[in-house]
Amino acid sequence: MESGLRPMDAEQLRENGHKMVDFIADYYKSIENFPVLSQVEPGYLRELLPDSAPNQPESLQQVFDDLQAKILPGVTHWQSPNFFAYYPSNSSTAGFLGEMLSAGLNIVGFSWITSPAATELEMIVLDWLAKLLNLPDDFLSAGNGGGVIQGTASEAVLVVLLAARDRVLRTVGKTALEKLVVYGSDQTHSALQKACQIGGIHPENCKLLKADSSTGYALSPDLLSEAVSHDITNGLIPFFLCANVGTTSSTAVDPLLELGKVTKSNGIWFHVDAAYAGSACVCPEYRHYIDGVEEADSFNMNAHKWFLTNFDCSVLWVKDRNALVQALSTNPVFLKNKASDANMVVDYKDWQVPLGRRFRSLKLWMVLRLYGVENLQRYIRNHIKLAKQFEELVAQDPRFEIVAPRKFALVCFRLLPPHRNEDFSNKLNHNLLDTVNSTGKVYISHTALSGKYTLRLAVGAPLTEERHVNAAWKVIQEKASVLLSEFGMNGVS
Ligand SMILES: *Cc1c(COP(=O)(O)O)cnc(C)c1O
Repeated sequence: MESGLRPMDAEQLRENGHKMVDFIADYYKSIENFPVLSQVEPGYLRELLPDSAPNQPESLQQVFDDLQAKILPGVTHWQSPNFFAYYPSNSSTAGFLGEMLSAGLNIVGFSWITSPAATELEMIVLDWLAKLLNLPDDFLSAGNGGGVIQGTASEAVLVVLLAARDRVLRTVGKTALEKLVVYGSDQTHSALQKACQIGGIHPENCKLLKADSSTGYALSPDLLSEAVSHDITNGLIPFFLCANVGTTSSTAVDPLLELGKVTKSNGIWFHVDAAYAGSACVCPEYRHYIDGVEEADSFNMNAHKWFLTNFDCSVLWVKDRNALVQALSTNPVFLKNKASDANMVVDYKDWQVPLGRRFRSLKLWMVLRLYGVENLQRYIRNHIKLAKQFEELVAQDPRFEIVAPRKFALVCFRLLPPHRNEDFSNKLNHNLLDTVNSTGKVYISHTALSGKYTLRLAVGAPLTEERHVNAAWKVIQEKASVLLSEFGMNGVS
């Protein structure tokens, strides 16, 4: 037996790398054979693996065997064409190749000097994407703004909240921290609340304003304006708004232009969370959803959701990069270098929480180059078309209703409450979700809208075709019939 792998040997990398690519390609070829949602029980893996690491090296083949037998059963297959839960987390060949290259070069690009190409490519590619989205020039790197790749939307909202917090505290004094107020609608992702917790915002000052079906779950500018005035009267200091373009629950879109008027006249940092729906705005016909982004101070979208860029790649643009740097920079002596000292370069360590960072722009660059804008637009349009078809199927079945208007590729629907009994309806839909997902044929998820237990089907996996959407609807219909007949009501109530 050979003595195992050396830590880095080009020929061993070539040989084993090819085997790994084959393993992954075979996985994709057979991905539809697995239950989409892993069906294992909690703790399943501890019974299958030894208690401690091996003293002597094992072979790659032994690892592959364990991957097949023990790991894959515990995997939920996000890239399955039958995955419709949450929001998609795209992979693509271009994204995969970029990810390989990023792992292969394995640089740590915290300062420009640590790999000039990593910083400069990130600036250039984010300028490209900003232009594709038709973002205002203030977000481009040529002026005082620019883009940066964060790991997730949660990190994006955290860093801009910290930047905004420190900017206002420089004016009003550090002791005013407990008076600072953050706003969003109650449809805003929980990442905002987490950012407030980390940022030391008083829990009662993270104000989630009510957004219900009367506004299509969008934040009302009047409501924001009233809340801001009320808080100022009470001696509080409004400083941050997180608006949504495409909420996680139902893809609601807040009116950016009107909200921006309120933030501008009150000196409030205006952040736009377009984690999911931002990708659609590369299509001219969907760009209007971010009309008003001119008013924003920062804008975020997850290229790793619906833009064929493997996780993770969350793109954040700011108009005032100095605000980020002032909140997040440190300059220890061991990182000093000529380019940074002369202020000639961007050091992305000052735009994020960690010091170290991967060469993630390679992925986005390769996605943009290897697919091109027209294919990316076609990709988005196809998913939206498929979601529209699914919505029509649901609308044709009188036992179901569409719960919120569809804007992108997410459909929110539910079984109607038999005899108008809402409590029973919630149980029924919960049951339906569980039975559908336990078939392993599809995976959908849920949310609550105005207290209604709502099923969510998001089209967006790269392999999904019309036949998969139709098959998903068939499974949902079949399971609904079984459930309803169990309760003796297989018709319209
Ligand atoms: C998915 C999502 C998030 C959170 O994304 P992470 O990148 O996992 O932090 C935030 N906001 C919205 C609107 C989302 O859809």
